[in-house]
Amino acid sequence: MNDEKIRILVVDDEIGIREGCRIALNMEGYEVDMAEDGLAGLKMFEQNRNYAIALIDLKMPGMGGLELIEKIREQDKDIIMFVITAYATIDTAVEATKRGAYGYIPKPFTPDELILPIKRGIENRALSLEAKRLREERENRLLTAAFERSKSNTIIKCMTDGVLVINRDRQIVLWNEAAHRIIPGCEDLPLPVHLNAIGSSGELFDFLNETADVDSDPVIISKEVTIENSVYMVNVSPVIEAEIGTSMGTVAVFRDITALKELETAKSMFVSMVAHEVKRPLGVIEGYLNLVVSGMTGEVPPNQKEILDRSLIRARTLQTMVSELMNLTAMETGKFTIKRVPIDIVKVATDAAESCRDRAREKEIELALDYDEKAGHEPVLADRAAMMSVFVNLIDNAIKYTPEKGHVSIRVDNTGNYMKVSVRDDGIGMTPEEKDKIFEEFYRARNKFTARVPGTGLGLSVVKRFVEMHQGKISVETAPGKGSTFTVFIPKWDQAK
Ligand code: ADP
Repeated sequence: MNDEKIRILVVDDEIGIREGCRIALNMEGYEVDMAEDGLAGLKMFEQNRNYAIALIDLKMPGMGGLELIEKIREQDKDIIMFVITAYATIDTAVEATKRGAYGYIPKPFTPDELILPIKRGIENRALSLEAKRLREERENRLLTAAFERSKSNTIIKCMTDGVLVINRDRQIVLWNEAAHRIIPGCEDLPLPVHLNAIGSSGELFDFLNETADVDSDPVIISKEVTIENSVYMVNVSPVIEAEIGTSMGTVAVFRDITALKELETAKSMFVSMVAHEVKRPLGVIEGYLNLVVSGMTGEVPPNQKEILDRSLIRARTLQTMVSELMNLTAMETGKFTIKRVPIDIVKVATDAAESCRDRAREKEIELALDYDEKAGHEPVLADRAAMMSVFVNLIDNAIKYTPEKGHVSIRVDNTGNYMKVSVRDDGIGMTPEEKDKIFEEFYRARNKFTARVPGTGLGLSVVKRFVEMHQGKISVETAPGKGSTFTVFIPKWDQAK
């Protein structure tokens, strides 16, 4: 309650009563205004409007007490009004209460008989004002909540991305108009509706069904889904109940990436076209350079030979880049097909190591191959050329990124479900940041050592894609100065079926 003084209006035509009330009320600390009839009382009320209590005589010349009570009540719902009268009857009491009086104080009264009901009235008024304040506050909160909800609904409705909310029972509980446009035949379905209403056998249903149980971890699961002739990136994340921290369901957002995919395909086709155009002349350049360097066209002076040797290395790097680019774009546009047949992985790893032996010898690097005796007899279902490319790339890298007189070892193991091939070196190794990026296209670690090593940054991207096309896995263990071990797992024949 605030510290403002409580104001009381006394309306009575008898001066003795008015004065008596004023003195008694002042002594209690109340402020008092007085009026000698109904009209003057109403005027005073309308001018001040801040009375907590009004004491009103019933019988006054002009406007009587009942009329005054009624007029004041019309304008102020909270004021407490007492009737003070010497002519109290049940009927007048009922009438006065009907018009808005709170109670009765019969004349004549002692100061105590006046103060006691007034104090009760003031307490009552304070309680009802507090209740009113709380009610208003609650209504305001509800209003804000309703406003917020309708604001979020409007935002969701206006989004160009499709939005779908699914509860724990796999029912769709909310979707926006963009989602209606994206998912065919769903616009007329009343909500909630079970998820299988969107077609229980499609790629989209499978994805939403699988992700419906994601728990409370903040996670986003993404998948590209084709619906009618458009491609969408669908991002699913759990809807977390703030108070208990568990998931109430999931929200799926559909972003149309058709144009992006078309651009990507156009880029891949362009790169592939350029690579094809460049490949043949590059082969010719390399052939001629080889011819000259080998001395078949006449003796080459040592200073020119050095230049030609370097040109030959560059031409070879460019050729590798061109074929890796061609492989990558073929994979991206889905034109790359692998032919998987049962093959002996030990044999492929041995052939890959042999094809790198000359390069190892040039750097006096020891190249060793070792395998589990049983492994060779357990075939994997794989494309031989693709596997060859994987191992040649890994062994070649191990040689490239290991200083002279280092060691590279290849080990093949049978792990039960997979054949595991590890390529280990004791070379320069990688920092954790470098390790995280090596499978990205065109990424090359930049340091003093790698600056002298020719490379394209494409080899490991091709390796990873080949391994994944075989439902395999690739991992790396490495530390700067401690060497690296690349491990490839390829499912065994019976597992791959
Ligand atoms: P690059 O043609 O550059 O060798 P890759 O895609 O094969 O391209 O490899 C990407 C990068 O990963 C390399 O540039 C190098 O920084 C790092 N890297 C790959 N293999 C090794 C390794 N065995 N030891 C240290 N770093 C390596």
